[in-house]
Amino acid sequence: MAASKPLRIVLLGPPGAGKGTQAQRLVAHYHVPQLSTGDILRAERKAGTALGKEAQGYMDSGKLVPDGLILGLVERELEKGLTGYILDGFPRTVPQAEALDIMLASRAVPLEGVIELTVDYDEIVRRATGRRSCPNDGSMYHLQSNPPKVDDKCDKCQGALVQRDDDKEETVRKRISEYEEKTAPLRPFYEKSGRLKRVTGTGGIDEIFERIKAAIGH
Ligand code: AMP
Repeated sequence: MAASKPLRIVLLGPPGAGKGTQAQRLVAHYHVPQLSTGDILRAERKAGTALGKEAQGYMDSGKLVPDGLILGLVERELEKGLTGYILDGFPRTVPQAEALDIMLASRAVPLEGVIELTVDYDEIVRRATGRRSCPNDGSMYHLQSNPPKVDDKCDKCQGALVQRDDDKEETVRKRISEYEEKTAPLRPFYEKSGRLKRVTGTGGIDEIFERIKAAIGH
């Protein structure tokens, strides 16, 4: 049975830790929306908006988009009047986390906790750099764990598979070092206020999901 208390959490963890996958499971279980700043930025880029164009260079080189742009975008989403939420990929800097507390306090929907998915960095590089997708139908593959039947070709449409720019090894490593430098300081920030819970992010999807639910506690 789904929980009656609306879930209000931040999913924290290095890029490639599986936050997006777990966020989808949480959405289905707790019936609250996922707010992924990465997904919103990708949609803005696809739509060719000014915001999307401004974010593009940062994203392709594995750097964080400036706080000002991100906060405007989150503010816009919160205006929709959410009672529960799963924040995925936001906040990513201490100033973003401070701004989030202020934005939520004025809307009386405080954060109940922060779940940090911990995954070894070498494992992240292996997962990300093996990922391939089909630009025609969006099918996803992984060179080690879910390879296409024919090298570099989509099983469904035979289209040539591509690697996302931000999955290239150099970019993945850059994103990890950005995480260490700018996002890891969120650990002591949330630990101080007793809101941080750490969950091991390796193993099967179901197994990790059970650990997250146990950490949430409802
Ligand atoms: P993600 O899909 O969450 O890994 O995000 C993809 C890219 O979007 C990141 O590498 C950043 O360039 C940008 N991005 C997403 N969320 C944020 C954020 N909260 N702050 C700064 N940049 C972000």
